[in-house]
Amino acid sequence: MRYAAFTVDVDRDANLAERGRYEAGSRAIAGLDTTPRFASSGKGLRVLSELLDDLSIHATFFLEGDALRDIAHHADVRELLRKHEVACHGVCHEDFTGESTGICLTGEQVGQVSKESRSIVRDILGRVPTGFRAPYQHIDDIGLGALAKAGFTYDSSKTEKMIDGKIAPKELDSGLFEVPLACGKDGQGKKIVSYLWPMHEGKRTADDYIGLASSFRSGYLVLATHSWHLTETFRSGPLDAKQCKIEVGKTRKVLEGMLDQGIKFRKIEDYLGDG
Ligand SMILES: [Zn+2]
Repeated sequence: MRYAAFTVDVDRDANLAERGRYEAGSRAIAGLDTTPRFASSGKGLRVLSELLDDLSIHATFFLEGDALRDIAHHADVRELLRKHEVACHGVCHEDFTGESTGICLTGEQVGQVSKESRSIVRDILGRVPTGFRAPYQHIDDIGLGALAKAGFTYDSSKTEKMIDGKIAPKELDSGLFEVPLACGKDGQGKKIVSYLWPMHEGKRTADDYIGLASSFRSGYLVLATHSWHLTETFRSGPLDAKQCKIEVGKTRKVLEGMLDQGIKFRKIEDYLGDG
């Protein structure tokens, strides 16, 4: 059996790291500066929740603390996420390794951020998350050690090469599992990563990801997207209803294409729990 995870990063709209700034901003749109925005993220969460219901897929949502707090003011997030796994994605979209901001966090700071992120999810949703994805997927051994120490079961920040069609979670020395995204080949033999970002920005098609899934032979294929990417793009800003429908259609096509191949979607906590 081939298994897959559909994972969603719920964070600030069109998030943007800036040199020397600890918390992430949002890409500036007409009349606004880079102050974080969350409207597209919240709207995208509602849209995705409907799509996943329709396809009977249970997903894993990595929730940024600030985004979750904001969205909870406007929507019944407990209900929207009821069937899905909830996991952590930092508090204000911190860049742990400082690769983009120039501000590198110590292990102790990563520990504090990850615990605060978990408390926010627990307080708002009443569930204790066991998984973490680092903002920008920036994590190193110090960060992974801090997550293990903070009591997380797994991290899903890295991207690993699919070898001979195989990719699977791996247990690290600390006992933490790494549940990587996949890097493989599309139908034309070109390198492709299992993050749907380029599809929503018009640089990839749904068929490219279906091609990646076709080359997947065994293990656990982790797909990822942002909730805001269903309703806003970096290229064009917030989308109108018609454009939004197109992005939902592309996402549906990828997921249906994988289901048609007999791939079964499972939440990460369930997949690891049965391992
Ligand atoms: Zn993020």
